[in-house]
Amino acid sequence: MPEQAIAGRVLSVASECVPLVKTGGLADVVGALPKALAGQGWQMRVLMPAYRGLADRLERAEEVWTGGDLFGGPAIVLAGRVDGLDMLLLSAPHLYDRDGGPYSVAGHDHADNPERFAALCWVAAEIARDGLGDGWRPDLVHAHDWQGGLVPAYLRYGGIGVKSVITVHNIAFQGVVPADRLAALRLPGAEFTSDGLEYYGRISTLKAGLVTADAITTVSPTYAEELMRPAFGMGLEGVIAARAARVHGILNGVDTEVWDPAGDLEAEPFDSRRLMRKALNRDRLRAEFGLGEVPGPLAIVVSRLTGQKGIDLIPAVLPDFIAAGGGLAVLGSGEPGLEGAMHAAAARFPGRVGVTIGYDEALSHRMFAGADAVLVPSRFEPCGLTQMYGLRYGTLPVVAETGGLADTVINASPMALAAGAATGISFHPTDALAFGQALRRLTQLYAQPKVWAAMQRAAMRQPVGWEVSSAAYAALYADLLG
Ligand code: ADP
Repeated sequence: MPEQAIAGRVLSVASECVPLVKTGGLADVVGALPKALAGQGWQMRVLMPAYRGLADRLERAEEVWTGGDLFGGPAIVLAGRVDGLDMLLLSAPHLYDRDGGPYSVAGHDHADNPERFAALCWVAAEIARDGLGDGWRPDLVHAHDWQGGLVPAYLRYGGIGVKSVITVHNIAFQGVVPADRLAALRLPGAEFTSDGLEYYGRISTLKAGLVTADAITTVSPTYAEELMRPAFGMGLEGVIAARAARVHGILNGVDTEVWDPAGDLEAEPFDSRRLMRKALNRDRLRAEFGLGEVPGPLAIVVSRLTGQKGIDLIPAVLPDFIAAGGGLAVLGSGEPGLEGAMHAAAARFPGRVGVTIGYDEALSHRMFAGADAVLVPSRFEPCGLTQMYGLRYGTLPVVAETGGLADTVINASPMALAAGAATGISFHPTDALAFGQALRRLTQLYAQPKVWAAMQRAAMRQPVGWEVSSAAYAALYADLLG
């Protein structure tokens, strides 16, 4: 991009990024943002730890920063490209070159996680202050979740006049550290107050970021508002509510090339004008899950099997749904009790309920291509992705009305149906009564082919890519830089 066309330079700081490391949706967003923002004129580089083996994956790697002692050992930053992304990998072998995943080994958190991610944040702040050896210096820093929480804090406490944004992807993880690590984390004692980074007698790196960042974002407008309430804020609701004027909810997008019904290599291609061809994918899906005839809607669940996702409600609503003609195919893994409950459901309703325990990206594509509906009965959902895959594939979402689910699905109310706007069904609260009622409405709508097809077409028209959201981030950055 020619220099004069650049709206600004942003350093994105995160613990994971697709395609290098992914444990959750955070990595998808961090990996998608640079491409989405490039279209808006913003140049974004992603700084993350060089976990074991990652540095080898950089193309045209170049050392662009060298530090002295970084929390107990030497460190450098390597710049290079991976799949078109401009990556900056913080290589500090004493912190990152080890067995296990980014956060844990054999089920146990790395004991020095506070130092490992403080180091990442420290280097980000130094880059913001001094720039890199290749002459690049960010105008703004964008940190993600508790692992990035100390970036705004170091900037503020160090008097470094570079603006910062912190994004909350999941408030459940708050980076809580014993108070006696304050000095070790290079944090000033004077900030250990309830207005600062103190959190019930301990340090919270997420809170540190929330109180010092120039703007706070989260991944949907509804979740932004929910986070200010005790039921969702997990102890940080007051901190976020106190900064309400600086809180922005910006929806995640999905990769519309990867999730494209007309070009999906796993499926018989279809689009909103050739919806009949979805029937072929439906037949294949039934065969793959050992299902017989399903006269009503064939629903899917593709999810972590956890209480957050409301999976425990499924056994309660299933008998009525099956009696009304429905079928269900489940793909997921998670809590052993819930995996067992899914197996039990398949045993109880042979030919109508099928279950695959595991993680299988390709299978998930075939499921979205073939199913009539996707069920997402979450108790909380910061944004959620599967309901958006459902929209894109004309696989109508049945969702709890919370977080990003509430912001992306237009409930089939009589008014929305009359206006041709309905794209799914939402229910509230997240309990078996409301969920069961939603499935009854689903079955009724499915029995009206014209109404159903109109909803599918409306769903497939809905924009679920990054266009709208990248413009929202760009506007926020521009606003911060004045
Ligand atoms: P969360 O990040 O809370 O798990 P999201 O809906 O934001 O929920 O993202 C989950 C992502 O993981 C989606 O892309 C979904 O399709 C995918 N996924 C979840 N479980 C499975 C599975 N068992 N097999 C394949 N993909 C899965």
